Amino acid sequence: MWDASKCDLCGDCLVNCRYVDYDKDRAVTELKLLMDGKEADILNSCITCISCNDYCPTGADPSNLIFKMQEKVGTCPIVVTAKPFIDMMTKGLEEEGKPAELIPGDPEKPVLSFDSFEFSQFPEGTLESALFKGMTVVRGMQYFSLVGAVHMGAESFSERYARKVIDRLASLGKDIVYIHNEGYTLAHLKAAELGVPVPFKYTHLFEYLRDYLKDHSDSITKLGKKVAFQANCATRWLHEQETWLDEIFQLVGVERPQRHYEGINALCCTGPIVFSNKKLAVDIQVKNVRDAIDSGADAMITICPICNAVLKRPTSQLGLPKIFITDLCRMAIGEIPWPEN
Ligand code: SF4
Ligand code: SF4
Repeated sequence: MWDASKCDLCGDCLVNCRYVDYDKDRAVTELKLLMDGKEADILNSCITCISCNDYCPTGADPSNLIFKMQEKVGTCPIVVTAKPFIDMMTKGLEEEGKPAELIPGDPEKPVLSFDSFEFSQFPEGTLESALFKGMTVVRGMQYFSLVGAVHMGAESFSERYARKVIDRLASLGKDIVYIHNEGYTLAHLKAAELGVPVPFKYTHLFEYLRDYLKDHSDSITKLGKKVAFQANCATRWLHEQETWLDEIFQLVGVERPQRHYEGINALCCTGPIVFSNKKLAVDIQVKNVRDAIDSGADAMITICPICNAVLKRPTSQLGLPKIFITDLCRMAIGEIPWPEN
């Protein structure tokens, strides 16, 4: 959450933003306008990648200030383009849309939450995989992660609906495994910031997969591949997941090649701007996939259905297999083969 008391107006956040070309003076001017609640150029240029939080040395959370102002101003391209989605999500959260879907599982096993994603947005066979056998599965707009609404000009969703979403998950009476890291971010970070209690045990997908692989190490055949990682934007809120991913890679016998666009330099998948700025989106996608290929990667893994969908065309055009993280684990336990080029 934006904390003005931590901001010393160093300008690093916006000087380092790769989607604008500001010097320090310009960056500071932009920030001062935002802090005064006024319109600023960055609101139209920001693609909501959340990287500036990593550039900020004081933890002031500058992206949150930008997202709040994008919502307040309401005329930025990503906000205008996303309006129909936000209307649909509001209906769902208010229980006026389609009912939630729940597939019951073994009473002693946890719930796998798909947040608001459709099951079909995940690779074929995900629900049938031994990885998730016997788990209760739930999805629907009622379980929206909320934190992802910052990509659509609805930063206030977290504050408005966090308690409702957490209470709905709590009413299932089980531990929750989040298949998408934004749901985990809501439970782990946002709920605490907003003072919303989370009365259930929750687990990040990476932790769950790591533990599953450790418990089933006899069924793993090491893949012996180099795999580039497409970090989705929520990784900027959850740096600990990098360690969990490294553990998964080690367990399945995968090496992460050194990339230019990695860690703090990682590129946005461009999901937030595919409709509002297609040219920029395509430029970034190509740069990203070429960088993965140049690093010697045999494939790229994605961990978010939006990144997975957006990167389908460029990875296929440039000849780099794209694998969802759960499928990478399924390959290691022999459920599915390594993709053919
Ligand atoms: S969120 Fe990303 S695009 Fe927006 S200002 Fe920060 S670094 Fe730039
Ligand atoms: S938000 Fe952080 S990086 Fe940006 S000006 Fe303030 S202290 Fe510097």
